[in-house]
Amino acid sequence: MSSKVEHILQHYFGYHSFRPGQAETINHVLHKKNTLAVMPTGSGKSLCYQIPSLAKEGTAIIISPLISLMKDQVDALQSLGINATFINSSLSVAEQQIRLEQMLAGKCKFVYVAPERFESSYFVHMIKRIQLSLVAFDEAHCISQWGHDFRPSYRSVVPILKQLSNIPVFVALTATATKEVISDIQDLLQINNEYVVTTGFERENLSFYLVKGKDKATYIRSFLKEHPNDSGIIYTATRKQADKLYEQLNKLGVSVEKYHAGLSETERKNAQSAFIHDEKTVMVATNAFGMGIDKSNVRYVIHYAMPMNIESYYQEAGRAGRDGEPSDCILLFSPQDVQLQKFLIEQSEMDEPSKQNEYRKLQAMINYCHTHSCLSAFILDYFGDKNIHACGRCSHCQSNQEKTDMTVEAQMILSCVKRMGERFGVSMTAKVLRGSKDKKVISFRLDTLSTYGILSNYTEKELTEWIHFLIAEQLLDTEEGKYPTIKLNQHSVEVLKGKRKVWMLSAPIPVHDDTDYD
Ligand code: ADP
Repeated sequence: MSSKVEHILQHYFGYHSFRPGQAETINHVLHKKNTLAVMPTGSGKSLCYQIPSLAKEGTAIIISPLISLMKDQVDALQSLGINATFINSSLSVAEQQIRLEQMLAGKCKFVYVAPERFESSYFVHMIKRIQLSLVAFDEAHCISQWGHDFRPSYRSVVPILKQLSNIPVFVALTATATKEVISDIQDLLQINNEYVVTTGFERENLSFYLVKGKDKATYIRSFLKEHPNDSGIIYTATRKQADKLYEQLNKLGVSVEKYHAGLSETERKNAQSAFIHDEKTVMVATNAFGMGIDKSNVRYVIHYAMPMNIESYYQEAGRAGRDGEPSDCILLFSPQDVQLQKFLIEQSEMDEPSKQNEYRKLQAMINYCHTHSCLSAFILDYFGDKNIHACGRCSHCQSNQEKTDMTVEAQMILSCVKRMGERFGVSMTAKVLRGSKDKKVISFRLDTLSTYGILSNYTEKELTEWIHFLIAEQLLDTEEGKYPTIKLNQHSVEVLKGKRKVWMLSAPIPVHDDTDYD
């Protein structure tokens, strides 16, 4: 690394060494190689475009999806004595014009804009006339329609930029990208494989917990009692849930704010500010809250319901512990969460292939809620991280329950799936195993199968859990869609032939009553 770059790191930012991935990214950008940096939240992605720009002549344009984020970034740079500005719709037209002219006069080292800004031909014309150091795409996963937060305006910027001849280099940055999203960003911005910098996704200070079968409101109340002074975010799946939980906590005297898209801009701004400045301890919010929120001392993120995919989950949960201190990420799961997410996909205006893609991602999220393996490793595997190991911190790693050999029961379930012709879903399979008199079971003559009622000493709820567990551990396949059917795979065959054992963390205890699941 050149002494100039080292000097900038120390002189402007006061740091003595780079964090993983930073030096490599900066080096590629300085050599004008279009670069993608995939690094976890809090790892220091901003420096990856700030340092090369400071080392070069010209202005850096940073495309950022959220207006609220820009001001913080600009304030931070200005406090370091760096000339930075943002141009967006929160400013009056006159103020926008002043800033554009400053940019044109070469007075700004960094200009933050939203992608929509490029829809103005006047702005594009201005950009053509200035000397640029680079163009950065912050939160670059928003470019990809396979990403969890696709912004069409982000994608449509690309052809406009490609027509400009004065952009030396692109740098894209994101904390959450699957293989598909990475390759989509690469195609769009012409980034060669050797210039994709991934540092691994693990956040070693985060402990993941999965909580099932508990009353969520009660759980939260006792959690907050145990952590009265810790700052934390509770994400709900809907605005209604957020309102209700906020009311409950407020009544209990908890220092709480709420944030969702149904509130006015002023209400949201005030809530955000009170939370960021530690005037309020707890934030109850929908996923409208958070992208780009740089609050370092969030000690926990609780999900009141299962989110729609692992990308969203990891990004939201990852808002905990940006300061590197130990923090908790807790997901409160109930089977109804799945119905809600399916409903949201059905209701959306997406075309059929996009819906299928969402169902596929949802299935991975459902699997997370049913795995008995390390939760952190599950997430890292999802993102294709190569350095996977049990974290030792999550609720599964810490569980002191003995693992039980459930191979025989698993074989019963798998052979039932086979006998049912691999044409049905989880719930019907559970009914057949239980020996249910459900009309559908009878009308399909599933009560004549040899596996009918073969596990009648377990409840339907337990059997359902169990089948989901087999799917999560990839011992059964499921098709994506609204009503997914389950099928055997090569691992199931190994279990059926006795070549593979099945271990569960807490084996269900047989019951002898009739309390069935829905
Ligand atoms: P990200 O965008 O990846 O979430 P940021 O760029 O906001 O992360 O950086 C997170 C924090 O880490 C910031 O406070 C930043 O100043 C700090 N930081 C970045 N690089 C370094 C470094 N090399 N040494 C120490 N602190 C750093």
